[in-house]
Amino acid sequence: MTSAPLSLDRARPTPPPRPLQRPTADTPISPAFQTQPKSTPPTLRALRKAFQNQQNISEMLRHQQNRIENDAEIIEIAYDVQAGSYVSLQATPERQRFQAAYAGALVSVIDALGPCRSLFEGGVGEATTLAPVLKSWGGELPTTAGIDLCWSRIRWAKRWLHQNGAASVFLASAALDRLPFPDNAFDIVYTSHSLEPNRGREQLLIRELHRIAARYVVLLEPSYELATAEGRQRMDRHGYVRDIPGHAKRLGLRVIEHSRFPFTHRESNPTAITVIEKDRRAMATDSRPVCPACHSQLQPTDGFLFCAEGCGRAYPVLHGIPCLRVEKGIIASQLFDFPVA
Ligand SMILES: [Zn+2]
Repeated sequence: MTSAPLSLDRARPTPPPRPLQRPTADTPISPAFQTQPKSTPPTLRALRKAFQNQQNISEMLRHQQNRIENDAEIIEIAYDVQAGSYVSLQATPERQRFQAAYAGALVSVIDALGPCRSLFEGGVGEATTLAPVLKSWGGELPTTAGIDLCWSRIRWAKRWLHQNGAASVFLASAALDRLPFPDNAFDIVYTSHSLEPNRGREQLLIRELHRIAARYVVLLEPSYELATAEGRQRMDRHGYVRDIPGHAKRLGLRVIEHSRFPFTHRESNPTAITVIEKDRRAMATDSRPVCPACHSQLQPTDGFLFCAEGCGRAYPVLHGIPCLRVEKGIIASQLFDFPVA
């Protein structure tokens, strides 16, 4: 049996180096697009203009990449470009009343679960749920953190929390399947329609949320099972989650409540509440962020958070917002071996 030769393709001449170009607003926003040589990727400017003209960004990117389904990058770009739109929605008194009622009902559930000294929202978006949750909190505010995949949405979340008097929340760009916190980091971990577009990844994400919870996981997510036939069709089309309590039980977790939530943003996408008990007597002790790759402590250094004791990744902190995603970490094993110029 002969093994395939290592393909260095010597017969092909080396192409001349491309001249370095200064990036502009028209520079393609993702190097990943460069693997699609046949089509020109839309620029950041074009994407923002398309969004202003109410075009569907995901559809535009799918078309450009000649693909049928969204991939993770398309979802991230589409959400990042539309960052700010959830905060804009809060402008009307009706919407503010709804959000206050929705958050108030969630706080009542959390209250009934006993003392909560630390709280985490996975997929915090622009903090349009977290801000009213903290507003309707009775007594001393818990140590609070939230993450979202999109940097721009976290930037809006930071502003929205500040405007709503809750400036001390720790916010980071991070992924739901690689949360940058140690095991048992928060008394209560919750989500609000953030597992939603992740059909097929339900168990992966529930397991990760459960890992960082000390006492309870509270999931406000759409219920496929409670939806009408028309609603289910829509959820099928968008790839929304199904059977959250079933997935939790199959992971061996203890589901103590699953019911329709009294408030729902859209009738065709009914919200259900699922409460998973981990250890009702436990208490979280350390909510500080850690390396998402290896869970070691992070050391602040020169605009980065460095995983000095673990895997040696340096994570950028962009305008005060840590980007704690494994693929954003720069392996820099010799970071401290040279004097800083
Ligand atoms: Zn690490």
